[in-house]
Amino acid sequence: KLPEINGDFYEVHLRLTEEERAIQLKVRQFMEAEIKPLVNHYWLRDEFPFEIIPKFAELNLCGVTYEGYGCPNMSFRMEGVIAMEMARVDSSIATFFGVQSGLVMGSIYLCGSDEQKNEWLPKLQQLDKIGAFGLTEPEVGSGAAGGLTTTCKKTDEGWVLNGQKKWIGNAPFADVTVIWARDVDDNQVKGFLVKKDTPGYHVEKMKGKMSLRIVQNGLITMENCVVSESDRMPRANSFKDTANVLRMTRAGVAWMAVGCARGAYENALDYTRKREQFGKPIASFQLIQDHLVEMLSDLTAMQTLVYRLSELQDHQLLKDEHASLAKVFCTLRMRNIVGKAREVMGGNGILLEHDVARFVADAEAIYSYEGTKEINSLIVGRAITGFSAFV
Ligand code: FAD
Repeated sequence: KLPEINGDFYEVHLRLTEEERAIQLKVRQFMEAEIKPLVNHYWLRDEFPFEIIPKFAELNLCGVTYEGYGCPNMSFRMEGVIAMEMARVDSSIATFFGVQSGLVMGSIYLCGSDEQKNEWLPKLQQLDKIGAFGLTEPEVGSGAAGGLTTTCKKTDEGWVLNGQKKWIGNAPFADVTVIWARDVDDNQVKGFLVKKDTPGYHVEKMKGKMSLRIVQNGLITMENCVVSESDRMPRANSFKDTANVLRMTRAGVAWMAVGCARGAYENALDYTRKREQFGKPIASFQLIQDHLVEMLSDLTAMQTLVYRLSELQDHQLLKDEHASLAKVFCTLRMRNIVGKAREVMGGNGILLEHDVARFVADAEAIYSYEGTKEINSLIVGRAITGFSAFV
């Protein structure tokens, strides 16, 4: 009998409580039973499986760490484990959840007024409403901190928004989008909750993506789009407030990288035990075992790192540089693991039906979004040297 396939080699899940472990297994079961059979079909067609939304809502996971508004109020460690379990089966679905539960609910939870929280958080938590987070622009990606060109201006009619946002996940079907814009009067970044049918607000679905194809990204155009003062988030008054949201979600992306790598490794190990060449399973060849062990070493290091990252978060000790270091390390190692997983599967590694091809493609977006490798390295570099290389 062959040993069980288990990407958690050092059994870091033993650090979870029994209740947390039960939630981990519930998410895993859901992803295996409800999501896995659908994803290749939708990935190929560049479409989102809307039928999963009610089932997702039943899991009651959105707003994982928040208190009130129907949110589960779990630990950051649990939030990470959920992201990992989702990405272990499909990174697009994990990204959809990360946008809704982390970027959108997180922005409103941290920066919104009591009225905005009461209005939006319970509906977003239940997935009755879907949200999007609009920071990146066609000409402004890494340089968002100082470079946003989308403007807001206070007038007698309300706040007038002008500009474009690119790459915005969930935007083509979102009910509400968090829009970050620079105030032309005080030059500070402010945050707004823009409803989908607001006049002057237009979303076009982006086409031709070769990564995370299930995630529907939008190009948003705002032309004299007027929102009321009650749609401005009162605690979003500079880019520092945006960065507070991103610090949380970046830690989640490191966990997603672990999930993506783990899914690829476990699939590849399974394949090498079944595939025979020269009359033997290819897993019995020394060079294949060397590849598998290299993948597992990286994966094990990644897992122990993100568990510690979340412990820092649970003790309110998380700094930007902690999240950035984890994002850099885990996404780099993820790229190595998915590449090796494909390699040990030979030609079948590029066929969607064997799953790993999707992991390889999806890893590319995870590597670049929520701060590229270079930008996150510069955040760590600034913290350890005392010199900022940004300017
Ligand atoms: P650029 O900023 O143009 O960078 C190009 C290259 O230059 C990179 O390698 C970068 O590291 C490098 N570079 C830039 N500046 C420096 C520097 N100072 N020193 C060294 N190297 C540098 N954004 C949202 O707001 N909401 C979303 O929901 C969202 N979802 C996304 C989903 C996907 C699938 C993707 C691909 C992106 C998404 N993004 C989203 C945008 C994402 O955050 C940006 O792609 C990312 O921040 C990088 O910006 P950019 O693509 O414009 O690259």
